Amino acid sequence: IEEKDKEFIWHPFTQMQEWVAQPQMVIEAAEGIKLIDDQGNSYYDGVSSLWVNLHGHRHPVIDQAIIEQLGKVAHTTMLGLVNVPAAQLAEELMAVVPQGLKKLFYSDDGSTAVEIGIKMAFQYWQLKGKPKKQKFITLANAYHGDTVGTVSVGGIDLFHRIFSALLFETIQAPAPCCYHCKLSSGAKLCGMACSKEVEKILEEGHEEIAAIIVEPLVQAAAGMLTQPPGYLKRLREITKKYNVLLLVDEVATGFGRTGKMFACDHEEVSPDFMMVAKGITGGYLPLAATFMTDEIYNTFLGDYAQQRTFYHGHSYTGNPLCCAAGLANLKIFRDENVLENLQGKIEAARNKLAGFTLKHVGDIRQRGLIIGIELVENPQEKIPFPWEMAVGAKVCKKAREHGLIIRPIGSVVVFMPPLASTITEIEHMLDIIYLSIKEVTE
Ligand code: PMP
Repeated sequence: IEEKDKEFIWHPFTQMQEWVAQPQMVIEAAEGIKLIDDQGNSYYDGVSSLWVNLHGHRHPVIDQAIIEQLGKVAHTTMLGLVNVPAAQLAEELMAVVPQGLKKLFYSDDGSTAVEIGIKMAFQYWQLKGKPKKQKFITLANAYHGDTVGTVSVGGIDLFHRIFSALLFETIQAPAPCCYHCKLSSGAKLCGMACSKEVEKILEEGHEEIAAIIVEPLVQAAAGMLTQPPGYLKRLREITKKYNVLLLVDEVATGFGRTGKMFACDHEEVSPDFMMVAKGITGGYLPLAATFMTDEIYNTFLGDYAQQRTFYHGHSYTGNPLCCAAGLANLKIFRDENVLENLQGKIEAARNKLAGFTLKHVGDIRQRGLIIGIELVENPQEKIPFPWEMAVGAKVCKKAREHGLIIRPIGSVVVFMPPLASTITEIEHMLDIIYLSIKEVTE
């Protein structure tokens, strides 16, 4: 398998040296929150298989739902047809998303869900007779996917720079992050200077601004940059004031990750668009959805001559197997009281992290079971480790030797365990992370 892999497969990002340094591993099976390699070794899945797995691997309810659906139909198109689980899942999702969202458009992954939101927001203003409203406000360090459209609204230089001639321009606002904040001198006293920057942009340019797109509460791929409480709510207020659409990308934060079903629920925000993917099938199959208000949907209605439709559609949209997994995912949330049980786990992680008083731990950021530990050369001055030292990657490599799979983002060690992890398992995985950081940095 390793030979075939080496010869034929181009993996994401693996050309980078620090990743090549990770020994390749062949996963053959999984059980609960553990992955098992072809040598029979098992590893805790500390990144939930790229932040998607919620209830563990091989959960009987999801397994059974997919098997049952397989006995009926594996795929049909959504072009003029609908399948049973797609319709049922839409109804069930509508009952848990913020109340202003009334329709959804299915797609296949987070990037396409965001791409759809961008295109719909753009077309909405054309249809409304305000063709000047074309610009998007984005946040520095944002990550919304890898397609040309989603890289355009992204702010991570490494993903952006090389493709700049292909991308559309956006108006970039500062990333709201208390640890790295350059706008004020103390998070508690800052008065949310970051949201004021956005308001300034809106005040001056709202007539040409279509929308703002934001990852709510946490900019995950930027290294788990957490926003000050109230930031999202403030964005909702000012976008309403200036008649600009709010697109909330819940691809990483959705489905319990932050401790509530959606990050929006923490601030009682109902956006104009909300995008979900990753956890929607419990981490089993690719599925995504872009939610929108009736106002958006109704604007696209019209007769054939008016050409008021949305010119976009994917082959596997609303796939019945994926939607069956999506229904099973929501059933587990209800039957196993996932959100209630999460609170103790989040607290246990917080208590454990309070003991991470290591020399090179600069900042610990946690929202629910989204955890980022930023390692710095000098915590007093917040001086980062040089990139080429690949400290984050080395810690993750060490953790793997201790039986835990985690992921670095630069010098930030990222921990996103499945929601199904028990308190004992979370504490054990954090013990491994502590030890790995100590072994690499001290
Ligand atoms: N938006 C956010 C906030 C994400 O974290 C990601 C994936 N990490 C995406 C969009 C893209 O999702 P996908 O990888 O499923 O295309």
